[in-house]
Amino acid sequence: MTAVKMQKQLFGTNGVRGVTGKEITPELMITVGLALGTMRKGQIGVGRDTRTSGESLIKALKAGLLAAGCDVVDCGILPTPALQYLVKEHFDGGAMITASHNPPEYNGVKIIEPDGTEMGDEETIKLETLIFSRSFPPVKWEESGRESSAPSLIQEYCSSISEYFPGNPGKGMTVVADPGSGPACLTTSTILTAMGCRVITINGKMDGTFPGRLPEPSIEGLASLSELVISSGAAFGVAHDGDADRAVFVDETGKFIEEDQQFALIAQYICRKKTGTVVTPVSTGQIVEMVITREGGSVTYTPVGSIYVARTMRLLLENDVNVIFGGEGNGGLIFPEHQFCRDGGMTAAMMVSILSSTDKKLSELIDQLPRRYVLKDKIRTSKGKEILEGIKADYSHEKVDQTDGLKIIRKNAWILVRASGTEPIIRIIVDADDPEKCRDFQNEIKQKILAFG
Ligand code: MG
Repeated sequence: MTAVKMQKQLFGTNGVRGVTGKEITPELMITVGLALGTMRKGQIGVGRDTRTSGESLIKALKAGLLAAGCDVVDCGILPTPALQYLVKEHFDGGAMITASHNPPEYNGVKIIEPDGTEMGDEETIKLETLIFSRSFPPVKWEESGRESSAPSLIQEYCSSISEYFPGNPGKGMTVVADPGSGPACLTTSTILTAMGCRVITINGKMDGTFPGRLPEPSIEGLASLSELVISSGAAFGVAHDGDADRAVFVDETGKFIEEDQQFALIAQYICRKKTGTVVTPVSTGQIVEMVITREGGSVTYTPVGSIYVARTMRLLLENDVNVIFGGEGNGGLIFPEHQFCRDGGMTAAMMVSILSSTDKKLSELIDQLPRRYVLKDKIRTSKGKEILEGIKADYSHEKVDQTDGLKIIRKNAWILVRASGTEPIIRIIVDADDPEKCRDFQNEIKQKILAFG
């Protein structure tokens, strides 16, 4: 019981994304607004991240929505999960102008359903058809939409998280937050302070030129965060991507925590409190499943992409399966008791909760997790799908999972081979209990792929 992946033309895994002035223009945003406003009636909540192109793009998007007869509530600059939460609570749909982790010259739009989830493939394909056909039925003059703004609604999102963790769990804890000049400048410090933490912020001024670091929270970009964690004696440092649906961490020694380890640590904490299944894509590191099964939980695998995780979580819950947690191995984690989307603010708050429940330091908690080795690789080829079909037969005698691409599962090792839907490449991930096993498996599959030319 898993959400199925369908091929889209304009929209990628998480909305439309591209370079401003090339793929992403105000003209496109008017069309997206007209199409969305034709499909969804009522009150639409919109917002944006801090990118310099955001202001013109959101005005174009709003013009399209208003012309299609929707009322628009502009929630201003805010994280994507904050808008998703507000749409779920107040609106009939939503649209977020953001390019997430992409560099400053990029922008895009994510479409949000009334329940706060990102629009699924089936509806997105309907939206694309409308965008391409430009067949928008005219709206009578008296049915034109009205615009209002509600920049203070963001506080509801912050309170919904801090109130989820009552009793001041952050009391006595110092945390360094790095919102990366993005919209989490308005949320993470507020949430953690309300939980009792002493919060020090770096890159805390909103700026679409991203002067401190790029929107992708990479190890290199987080060097200043690590230094500040060490010098301030903080319990941890947290950094977000450009729209704060993801959170990544450094421990009290300033060391970057791999995203799969972070996922495993939080999954362990949740599985010790609740019994049920955790939903994640087939690409997530084995460490996560190992920890979950050790704690008595189970794992449901989905295609790669957060919308498949979120939709599968909903689908399972509708069928009375107890879904306790979900997410991707990139710091994008979904807490279903709060909402069905990746949420960087909630993830940061969860880390405070974990550390308040133990005397151990974050580095010690990470050291206690199982050790796995992961290799990632890609091969350029335009024949990805044919190659995958071709090598499949060679592994018919082995345990395989074809939820997304081809995953060959052996004792203490697996390899995932996927043909990209948007680029002429094959992506490879190997996960094993031993680095040599990783390399051998990688070489084996590469030889098979290259043999196809
Ligand atoms: Mg993001």
